[in-house]
Amino acid sequence: MYKAPLKELRFAIHQLIGDERLVGLSGLPDYSTEFADAVLDEAARFAEGVLDPINRLGDRTGAKWTAEGVRMPAEFKAAYAKFVEGGWTQLRAEAEFGGQGAPTVLGTAVEELWASSNLAFKLCPMLTQGAVEAINQCGSQAQKEKYLPKMISGEWTGTMNLTEPQAGSDLAAIRTRAVPEGDHYRLYGQKIFITYGDHDYTSNIIHMVLGRVEGAPAGVRGISLFIVPKVLVNDDGSLGKPNDVRCVSIEHKLGIHASPTCVLSYGDKEGAVAYLVGEENRGLEYMFIMMNAARLSVGLEGYALAERAYQQALEYSRTRVQGKPKTNNVPDGSKVPPIAYHPDVKRMLLTQKAYTDAARAVALYAAMQLDLGKHLPEGDEKAKAQARGELLIPIVKGWSTELGVTMASLGVQVHGGMGFIEETGAAQILRDSRIAPIYEGTTGIQAGDLVGRKVGRDNGAAMNALIADMQAELEKLSSSDAGVAASKAAALEGVAALKDATAALLKDPEGALATCVPYLMLGGVVIGGWLTAKAHDLAVRQASSDPDFFAAKQQISRFYAANLLPEAQTLSRVVKQGAASILEADPAKL
Ligand SMILES: Cc1cc2nc3c(=O)[nH]c(=O)nc-3n(C[C@H](O)[C@H](O)[C@H](O)COP(=O)(O)OP(=O)(O)OC[C@H]3O[C@@H](n4cnc5c(N)ncnc54)[C@H](O)[C@@H]3O)c2cc1C
Repeated sequence: MYKAPLKELRFAIHQLIGDERLVGLSGLPDYSTEFADAVLDEAARFAEGVLDPINRLGDRTGAKWTAEGVRMPAEFKAAYAKFVEGGWTQLRAEAEFGGQGAPTVLGTAVEELWASSNLAFKLCPMLTQGAVEAINQCGSQAQKEKYLPKMISGEWTGTMNLTEPQAGSDLAAIRTRAVPEGDHYRLYGQKIFITYGDHDYTSNIIHMVLGRVEGAPAGVRGISLFIVPKVLVNDDGSLGKPNDVRCVSIEHKLGIHASPTCVLSYGDKEGAVAYLVGEENRGLEYMFIMMNAARLSVGLEGYALAERAYQQALEYSRTRVQGKPKTNNVPDGSKVPPIAYHPDVKRMLLTQKAYTDAARAVALYAAMQLDLGKHLPEGDEKAKAQARGELLIPIVKGWSTELGVTMASLGVQVHGGMGFIEETGAAQILRDSRIAPIYEGTTGIQAGDLVGRKVGRDNGAAMNALIADMQAELEKLSSSDAGVAASKAAALEGVAALKDATAALLKDPEGALATCVPYLMLGGVVIGGWLTAKAHDLAVRQASSDPDFFAAKQQISRFYAANLLPEAQTLSRVVKQGAASILEADPAKL
C-alpha cells in the first residue's frame, strides 16, 4: 500500500528549496506555504484513497481497443470523474480560463503523488496540461476561448502527437501532410505511440498534432502545429460532427497497461479538419516552449516510482526472515531479525531512499527556478533562474528516470524470488518505470540537449554559474558536526569533478556527444549531492524538533556522501577520457 511521503515533500519544498520566495510574486496572488500544505494533504488523500487501489487492476485489465473506440476500465473512468470533481485538472492552469494558477514547484510535488500511486492514470492529465500550455502560449484568443475552459475543467482531454513510424527522436522526418482549405487545413497521415490518443473518459479529445503544410521547407523548419479535435466544436461550443481521425489500434506493451498507446490515422476519408496554431512552420519552436514543463513532468516519474519501490521493499524486508543477520545493529529480543538487518539489504534500501530524496530535491529545485524565471520582476535574477531551470531539465528527465528503473530493479532484488512474481507488485513498478527514460525524448536525446543546447550554446555560462553557487553555499556550511563536514567535503569534491568535466567537455564538442550521458549522470549525482549536504545541515540544526525524522535524514545524507557521491569521480574521468574508445569503434565490426 502506497503512503504519500508528505513529511519529505514538506521538508523539500519549504525548507530545502524555500518556496516562501514565491509568496507575493506577480502572477501568484494566492500562493502561501499553508495553501501548499492544504493542497498536498488533499492530493495525498486522493492518491492513497482513489488512485493507488486501482493501480494493480489497471495493470491486469488494461485499456481495450474496440471498433467504436478505446474502452477504459470502469474503475479508471470513475477515478477520472472524481479527479475532475476534485478540481485537480485545474491546479496548474492559468486563472483566466478557470485554472488555479499554482506554481510549478507545487504542481511537481502533487504530480509525484499521482505518478507513484498510478502512473498509467497520471499520463492523461499530464498530456492535457501539455496541450493546454501549447494553446495558451501559442494559440489565438479565439482558440483559447474555444478549447481551454473545457480542457482545464477536465470535460475534454488533450494529447501530444509528434511521433510517426519514421519520425521518433528525429522530428525532422515528420510527414503528416496539411492542405489549406479556407480558415482551416485538412490533415492526412499516421501518428503512432499516442498516449491517451483515444479513451472513453470524456466526450472529446483535443489532439495537438505536428504536421507539414504542403510546400513547406524540408526538415524541422517546415513543421507546423495544429489543433485537431476528435469531435468538431461548433461556434457556440457545442459538439458537432466526428472529425476524420481514427484509433486504428493500441499497443501491447511492457508496462503502464491502463494508459492506451494509440496508432491514430488522420484523413482516411475527407481529411481531418485541423486548425493552425500560431504561424506556419513554427511548430517545433512552439513545442519546445512547453517542452520544459513536459520533461519535468516525465522526469518526476522516475523518483516517484523509486519512492513506491522503496516503500514496498522496506515493508517486505521488515517482515521476511532469512538467516540471522551478522551485524551488531539488531533489535533486542529472542526472535531472529528480518532481512532488513542484513547489511547488504540495508545497503539496497539506503540506496533507494538516498537517490529518491536527492532526485526529488533536484526536480523541485528545477521547478522553483522555472517559477522564479516566470514570476520574478524583469532583471538579472529572473534571467538567471530561467537559464538555470532550462539547464536542469534534461538532468531531471535523464537522471531521475534512469534512477527510477534501477531503483525499481533494486526493489525487486530486495524481495528475492518474490520480486519476480507478479503477485507482490514489485515487478509492475519495474515494468512501469521502463518507459520514462524513453518517451518525451530518450536519455541520449536529453544528454545531447544538455551538452549541445544548454552547456555548449552559452559556452558553459549557466553550468559554471551553478557550479560557483553550489561551491559557495557548501563552503558556508558549518563543519562543527562531523556528519555535515563529511557531506560537505564529499559534495565539494563532486562539484570539483563536475567543474573539471565541464571544462573538458567544452574543449571537445565531438567527444562530448559520446560521453554526454555520463556527463548528465554526473550532473545529477553532484547537484543531488549538494542538496543532500544542505539537507544534512538543516537536519542537524533542527534535530530536536522531530528527532526520528531528522535522525533518518542525517543517516541518509551520510550514506549519500560515503556511498553514492564517489561515483562522481568515476563519471568525471569517463567524460574526460572515455570519448576516444567510443568514437573509434565501428558498429559494423563489433
Ligand atoms: C508508451 C509510449 C508512449 C508514448 N507517448 C507518446 C505521445 O503521447 N506522443 C508522441 O508523440 N510520442 C509518444 N511516444 C513516442 C516516444 O516519444 C518515442 O518512442 C521516443 O521519442 C523515441 O523515439 P523512437 O521510439 O522512434 O526511438 P528512436 O528515435 O529510433 O531511438 C532508438 C535509439 O537511438 C537513440 N538515438 C536516436 N537518435 C539519436 C541521436 N540523435 N543521438 C543519440 N541517440 C539517438 C535513442 O536514444 C534510442 O536509444 C511514446 C512512446 C511509448 C513507447
